[in-house]
Amino acid sequence: MANSHHKLIILGGGPAGLTAGLYAARARMDHLLVEKGAEGGQVLLTDWIDNYPGFPDGISGFDLAEKMLAQARRFELNSMFGNVTSLDLSEPVKRLQFEDGDTLSCDSLIICSGAHPRPLGVPGEVELTGKGVSYCATCDAPFYRNMHVAVVGGGNTAVQEASHLTKFADKVTLIHRRDELRATKIVQEKAFANSKIDFIWDTTVTEIKGTEGVERIQLLNRNGETSELKVDGIFVLIGVLPNNEMLPLDILKADAGGFIPTDLETRTAVPGVMAAGDIRSKEVRQVVNAAGEGATAVLAAEQYLANLS
Ligand code: NAP
Repeated sequence: MANSHHKLIILGGGPAGLTAGLYAARARMDHLLVEKGAEGGQVLLTDWIDNYPGFPDGISGFDLAEKMLAQARRFELNSMFGNVTSLDLSEPVKRLQFEDGDTLSCDSLIICSGAHPRPLGVPGEVELTGKGVSYCATCDAPFYRNMHVAVVGGGNTAVQEASHLTKFADKVTLIHRRDELRATKIVQEKAFANSKIDFIWDTTVTEIKGTEGVERIQLLNRNGETSELKVDGIFVLIGVLPNNEMLPLDILKADAGGFIPTDLETRTAVPGVMAAGDIRSKEVRQVVNAAGEGATAVLAAEQYLANLS
């Protein structure tokens, strides 16, 4: 694959990229999907998905990613693993530079590079990551059997994963910086009804303490009062940051957060370049709309390619 040219390259293999891959493969386009790690993206970090249509009993994030990949492969998805370090989008032929020196080029590109968990940015966080500080409840919850863990955040991820953590931990303390959760009502109701979850409102975590592992966290409430909470682990689930380090943000006219704006058809400011999924500048980040955007992006790419020839 190295140094080859394709009509369409899809950068990223989460739900947006895998759906784009399905549509491109099914349309028999000359395509290649490039993924850095495991196909599935952030959905692999989600324990259980209850709101992806077609699965009336819900499905695990891992199983959903596997099914998406299998479906795209049934139509002969072309894919490869590689770490793209930069993109040159200044010419009609777009070029991808890989970490190992290889390059690829394409006429149209769909950026589905996704997002990653936002860190808290407090003392102790980096040092204790993997030693009690986690960004993935699905991955790490089983380590906290019969223990007390904190969850930081008030969005769908934090509240949903707090519920999931109670399958293992004895006690989950959810710490939120406001007095009202951002999560969807049904997710909130489930958490409020769970006797293993308690809530600390109007409070932020200012430091994570411990030597071999997390032992205590320091809290600061709205009244300026500080306190310490003894916990065995802390799950930081406070939203996402864009995976944009390889993207030319100026030419793509990235927003202030580094996400990529598009029109309704997922077209970016660069002709022939689409963006789909969590890397797009938008309010709603759901698996189902990432998948929808992946499909839309391939149709936009087809239209662009048709006008080229
Ligand atoms: P989110 O919806 O952006 O929520 C982030 C939460 O973290 C907010 O409650 C925010 O507080 C808090 N926060 C942000 N920065 C903070 C900081 N520095 N310190 C303390 N708290 C901070 O993020 P998310 O929950 O990861 O969800 C991301 C996207 O995925 C959303 O669109 C979400 O709906 C979607 N999602 C959907 C599902 C589902 O449908 N089942 C599941 C998971 C995620 P404020 O509320 O005060 O801003």
